[in-house]
Amino acid sequence: MLETKVVCIQCGREYALSAAISGCETCDGLLEVKHDLEALKGVITREWAEKRRVERGFPNGSGVWRWRELVAPFPNEAIVSRNEGNTNLYEDARLAKWAGLENLWLKHEGENPTGSFKDRGMTVGISHANWIGAKYVACASSGNTSASLAGYAARAGLKALTFIPSGKVALGKLSQTMAYGAKTVQVEGSFDDALELVRRVSKEKGVYLVNSLNPFRLEGQKTIIFEALQQLDWQAPDWIVVSGGNLGNTSAFGKALWEMRELGLIGEKLPRIATIQAEGASPFYQYYRSEFTRFKAQKPETVATAIRIGNPVNLAKARRAIEWTDGVVDMVTDTEIMEAKAVLDRSGIGGEPAAGATLAGVRKLREKEIIGKGDRVVAIMTGHILKDADSIVNYHSNPANPGANPLVQMAGTLDDLMKLLEEN
Ligand SMILES: *Cc1c(COP(=O)(O)O)cnc(C)c1O
Ligand SMILES: [Zn+2]
Repeated sequence: MLETKVVCIQCGREYALSAAISGCETCDGLLEVKHDLEALKGVITREWAEKRRVERGFPNGSGVWRWRELVAPFPNEAIVSRNEGNTNLYEDARLAKWAGLENLWLKHEGENPTGSFKDRGMTVGISHANWIGAKYVACASSGNTSASLAGYAARAGLKALTFIPSGKVALGKLSQTMAYGAKTVQVEGSFDDALELVRRVSKEKGVYLVNSLNPFRLEGQKTIIFEALQQLDWQAPDWIVVSGGNLGNTSAFGKALWEMRELGLIGEKLPRIATIQAEGASPFYQYYRSEFTRFKAQKPETVATAIRIGNPVNLAKARRAIEWTDGVVDMVTDTEIMEAKAVLDRSGIGGEPAAGATLAGVRKLREKEIIGKGDRVVAIMTGHILKDADSIVNYHSNPANPGANPLVQMAGTLDDLMKLLEEN
């Protein structure tokens, strides 16, 4: 039996795997799952991973549970899975050229069951809740966590409660949450206010909290990196670029890389993580710029509602991930986000605005010569193109926007159509 524990990253206090807490009871520090890496050395190898990769069925057909020894050793009966992960790693010559690169891969996490990477974390969070016998699960969310929670809770037969910031959730996400049957509460204020509320409800009423404070979610999100490395035949890239809000991915990616190196699946030099924030929601960027000496929460605003976060809960873990990997943090404007998204969409791959932010960040870091022309770069597309249809229609309705593809209105006579074809 593996010795897997939950540990506070601040004071080191240990908790049992079955504990339903989302912060250290001694010091309020962030918790993380600690695997028995010593015992796994020589067991988890590239060959082991290759064997697992071809397994189908439950649960190893899942791109998360395939790595269960490095995720969470729950019994099969507890696992609630929809074969998440197994997402494509695309290459696209036009996108690479647009970003100024020779080697660019896009890992599309929008291809998960509910359309975002959140499913990789949610399958683990909900399986934990299921395992310890929780009845009610809850989260605050900028949208995708709610959609994912609602879907997985429905699969598990658990009641779900979600808190979202009023009027600031993309319709695709909101409608999914309602359709899957989660009780959905709109809270006046931002995501950060909604989170504060749900943390209190959770503490007082014993509702199981599945925000990215939940250490199990981050274990699932690590598999984005495991899977990408395997898809690259373990030739680690130079960069992994991802948009950041609550910084769960940034944190999870740092841990994933660190564990892969400990186990000898990749070499000593880790890929560098680049976290991209939106200009109007860039507290982590500002903190990075101060060389991690001054943190200040913000009142967030950006078109990329998935990363509209002013006070990221995983700050300490994300900082550690940037430090471990000699990473960088940058920010992009809403205009840059939407223009990059338009290019991403036109490639036929597509993604929601937060995925556009990743791609805009790749290009920006290349322009600044932080990323070299020949560097091998993996960009994480965090959500599906249909999540935020409003932002697409708005963008393309304005002919002044680069690459805009406005609707054509006409009576629809054959003559009209012939004229249209000639013009194009
Ligand atoms: C949640 C989310 C993010 C932000 O991820 P963090 O782990 O909170 O930094 C980015 N993009 C999409 C599409 C998301 O749903
Ligand atoms: Zn502690």
